[in-house]
Amino acid sequence: MSEMFLHKCPNCNATLEFNIETGMVVCGYCGSRFNVNDLLTEAGQTANNAADAANASAGSGAAAEDKIKEFDWGKYKERLTREELAGERSYLCQTCGAEVILGATVASAKCPYCDNNLILLDNVTASLRPNAIIPFKILPGQLSTSVKKFYQNRKLLPFHFFDENKMNAVRGLYVPFWLYNCHLNGGMTLKGSTARSYISGDYRITETTHYELDRDAQMSFERIPVDASLKMPDELMDSLEPFDYSDLTEFNSGYLTGFISERFDSDPDENLPRVTERVNNSLLEIMKGTCSQYSNVSVADNRMQMDDSSVKYVMLPIYLFDCTYAGKTYHYAANGQTGKVIGELPVSKGKKWLYFGIPFLILAAIAAFILYWLMG
Ligand SMILES: [Zn+2]
Ligand SMILES: [Zn+2]
Repeated sequence: MSEMFLHKCPNCNATLEFNIETGMVVCGYCGSRFNVNDLLTEAGQTANNAADAANASAGSGAAAEDKIKEFDWGKYKERLTREELAGERSYLCQTCGAEVILGATVASAKCPYCDNNLILLDNVTASLRPNAIIPFKILPGQLSTSVKKFYQNRKLLPFHFFDENKMNAVRGLYVPFWLYNCHLNGGMTLKGSTARSYISGDYRITETTHYELDRDAQMSFERIPVDASLKMPDELMDSLEPFDYSDLTEFNSGYLTGFISERFDSDPDENLPRVTERVNNSLLEIMKGTCSQYSNVSVADNRMQMDDSSVKYVMLPIYLFDCTYAGKTYHYAANGQTGKVIGELPVSKGKKWLYFGIPFLILAAIAAFILYWLMG
């Protein structure tokens, strides 16, 4: 049996739930409200106790790990290779006593039997404690406005779509993300040209001069996001960006109460090529910007090298939901901080939205841990 934790109301002992509107955790039973940061000590202590207990019972020599208060990739690297992240884990619900079977990477959920908000300690504390979180800002009720925005200027919609479109099954999820900081050093050689044109006798002469443009550079990039869940299709997560990282706040498991969440299961080092690709695109724009007086600028030689990188582990909020129109279901996803919506369009045949099927894929892929939520 794995460790579970419930954020309980100190007044009446009912489980607490994060309230998006107030940004506080509230007790649905007696109405008390609490600041999320006030939950810190309790959760933190429990977390450390759990880690200690785990290490003691395993009799392992991993004494250093129980002192770790949050994720540190340098220290975690070794451990990931021997982690079993497929399959399921069994928990004992502290409220109703039922055995709850969850995917091995689930970090928070609702008990399918008593509907209480569960925090799965093993996946969210000590060295697995995220470095930061962006809490939900958009209320489920605001999503219909976002959907309307999404459909603005899409004239192929059926006439009665807005009157008859029904939104259902809104699910709030925290998705694990890597945020990379990196530093690049080196240079780039670009080619460009200038042209001038003049009349000489009976001829118009165009004189083109070609230049080789050398640039030395040092550049830092901050907070380049890559989703850290293998289950989440990268294209979908990319299209839900951008997130506003000024809202990043210290992680507390209280934020997860009432939402489904999963811990990371991808290796940050293996994502570095995606980071490099993103960085290179920005790099090219910046370099070309320094050659604005030339035409036809292209790169002849790229000597920029990443000489330093670090990664933070964060949780970001998204919604998944469905809309039904004329008896058919359409899947959507939304950024839980900005309200940006992506999804399918019920347009004329053969003009399905670019990301058709992707939200459906997610639903299928994470069905295992969505299912119990739906039952709750
Ligand atoms: Zn209460
Ligand atoms: Zn229960």
